[in-house]
Amino acid sequence: MYTYKVVLHPNNKQQTKLKMIMNKCIEAQNIVYDYLDSLMRKNKLEHERTRKFIKLPTCLEVRRWFTIQKKILDEEVLEKRASMTKKMQRENHLDFLFYDCTNDALKQTVKDTYRSFMRFLKKESKYPVRKRYSNVKKSFYVDPYKIEFSDKKVKIEKISNSKKQNRRVLNLISLAERGRIPTNCEYYNPRVIYDGYRFYITVSVSDDNAPLKYKEKMQKINKGNEVIGVDVNINDIVTSNKAGTITTSFSSINNTNKIKRIERRFRRTQKSLSRKYEKHKITHKSLKEAKNYIKTKHKLHNLRCKLNNIRDAYIYYFLNKLLFIKENTLVKKIVVEDLDVKEMMSKENKGQNKYLRPLLQKTSFGKILEKIKEKCKFYNIELLQANRYYASSKICSLCKNKKIDLRLSDRIYRCDKCGLIIDRDLNAAINLANY
Ligand SMILES: [Zn+2]
Repeated sequence: MYTYKVVLHPNNKQQTKLKMIMNKCIEAQNIVYDYLDSLMRKNKLEHERTRKFIKLPTCLEVRRWFTIQKKILDEEVLEKRASMTKKMQRENHLDFLFYDCTNDALKQTVKDTYRSFMRFLKKESKYPVRKRYSNVKKSFYVDPYKIEFSDKKVKIEKISNSKKQNRRVLNLISLAERGRIPTNCEYYNPRVIYDGYRFYITVSVSDDNAPLKYKEKMQKINKGNEVIGVDVNINDIVTSNKAGTITTSFSSINNTNKIKRIERRFRRTQKSLSRKYEKHKITHKSLKEAKNYIKTKHKLHNLRCKLNNIRDAYIYYFLNKLLFIKENTLVKKIVVEDLDVKEMMSKENKGQNKYLRPLLQKTSFGKILEKIKEKCKFYNIELLQANRYYASSKICSLCKNKKIDLRLSDRIYRCDKCGLIIDRDLNAAINLANY
């Protein structure tokens, strides 16, 4: 299975329509969430009283329940609409119905929400969270049999309901990359995504339809027998093998000028936003009317997405270097340390880590670990997480002597017993490789 992710270039009308469908999907998700959540609560009370669980409805029953609910809600909106002008409808968010959405998108969101609860019951994940409308990654599902790709465009159903020919063109959204996604083949799980900055389409195809470069690469790959330790820091990421002969160090992306420049702009926009907010407090206008406030808010969100995208791209770059020790040779095993990020970020440690906190947030340890896990599963590489209390940076990599009085500010490790002088992070990485 190979997945394509391509940027879309929708025009203004298409953008509003796509956003509307996404918002409706979130609304549907929250309706189903509330329903299942209330059932789960009832179940818990019942269990305390009688020691028995009530049987939860199946996915099909929930979907049937939702289709009835959807019709009732649509009729309510139509009643409210009757005495309104089009402008008033738009202001009160009544200009779009569940009926205007594609049925496949709604059906899939109900399925996904139901599945998230089931995953909780099987103890595979945490309790699901209710979605918010603002600042979340929005997406919707498209039926793989109804989607059509051409070299330049993708056809998505029901962006325009009209039968007029010039209106039907609205269904065709232009792609940023020409001829990248193969035409006339079977597609799996296509989704349109919006991260607040850009629209994307992701679609999977079978391995036969993957690009040639990828196929050739996959054939050449063979497995080596190196064990690699990874030490993640605020300033850099250092990797090493057991003997310390093959080492790499990646300086953090947050130290580059590119990121620093955007961060500066981010801070400036933040200040300007707060100034506009204070101004509107005095005039007592509602924030929905404040056009300049909304404009800067969008600007800020765009910058945030830009920063995230650059950081994500760097993680992928780092991962490719980590997994391939030489060209086309995979590593055998990866050892990472288990950082207690939650405790570091907790409010009790706030005074201690006043300057560290934002830096820790930017480094995104959680995301790096998640991506490493994902890739290791894909390439079938063994992944080991060191014990939380294993002091990888305090132990000498040569004689295993433990140095207790090591401070965070000491960048170079000096062993008292054997006199080894080594870079602190490299020492930790070698220790992890030998774990
Ligand atoms: Zn030593």
